[in-house]
Amino acid sequence: MAEPVPRPDLPVTVDPATEAGWVDAPPRMGFFTDTSVCIGCKACEVACKEWNGVPTSGLDLLGMSYDNTGALTANSWRHVAFVEQPRPAGQPAARTEAETTGKGSTEFLGMPGSAPPGRTGSAHGRSDFRWLMMSDVCKHCTRAGCLDVCPTGALFRTEFGTVVVQEDICNGCGYCVSACPYGVIDRRAGDGRAWKCTLCYDRIGVGMTPACAQACPTESIQYGPLDELRERAATRVATLHERGVPEARLYGHDPADGVGGDGAFFLLLDEPEVYGLPPDPQVPTRDLPRMWRRAGVAALAMAAGAVVAFLGGRR
Ligand code: SF4
Ligand code: SF4
Repeated sequence: MAEPVPRPDLPVTVDPATEAGWVDAPPRMGFFTDTSVCIGCKACEVACKEWNGVPTSGLDLLGMSYDNTGALTANSWRHVAFVEQPRPAGQPAARTEAETTGKGSTEFLGMPGSAPPGRTGSAHGRSDFRWLMMSDVCKHCTRAGCLDVCPTGALFRTEFGTVVVQEDICNGCGYCVSACPYGVIDRRAGDGRAWKCTLCYDRIGVGMTPACAQACPTESIQYGPLDELRERAATRVATLHERGVPEARLYGHDPADGVGGDGAFFLLLDEPEVYGLPPDPQVPTRDLPRMWRRAGVAALAMAAGAVVAFLGGRR
């Protein structure tokens, strides 16, 4: 994976909630999604819809694997991506922890073969094909383009450092849609307003776990203080490397990347593009402070020119 391009021009944000004006903000909360243990059950998608009253979607098969929702949308705030990867004979697929250690079955990502049941041998014999599964979600960026461009204040930074849209204030202008470097936020057809994951603001505010993380049977989705999640994720990557999964890498965890790091980050088993994620996301409003400074200098120069011209004309 390409290393994130350092952005020395972007100030490192220690705590976006404090920067947004929250006094005595609690620890920043977030998601760590470990895709190596995702089994694609979609309990997260269902729990999210049920708790948040998100309209039904994904009732039509897309004809492209078991992925029936296709992408994050206004009506899919969690999207479980199914990536089917053929592996040429003789080139082993990435070995998951379950394959390597023989413990458990939750990390077997291979696709059942075409032979009749019982004649395919062990899971190791099915390494010509693997599934990668990932429950995608809003990244709750440290530098959130959606929030920067919202003209009504419908999008705001919570005390937990998350990014939430208030549907009663959203006017449906759609500026946020094009400002999101991940293509997450979306307007709902027939409604026009923007919708996305709130990291269950109503639940975490009373000490509950977000619905998706609560429902995930394999703890692929972990919720907690972001600092703790980052430590846990680094340990998990090291463990996977030791166990023969060198492909394991983190995505969105680095505060020095183009969005200042994500509040929802991932452990991936392949390049981010394989999962439909941008390799080096950049907040599109990164140049705004510099532009405003230059506009200010230009305005001052014009005002000074006008004063000089006025005084010159009086002589
Ligand atoms: S991922 Fe997109 S919608 Fe979510 S906070 Fe970042 S910019 Fe906003
Ligand atoms: S609930 Fe957990 S295991 Fe099931 S699809 Fe979602 S992330 Fe994967």
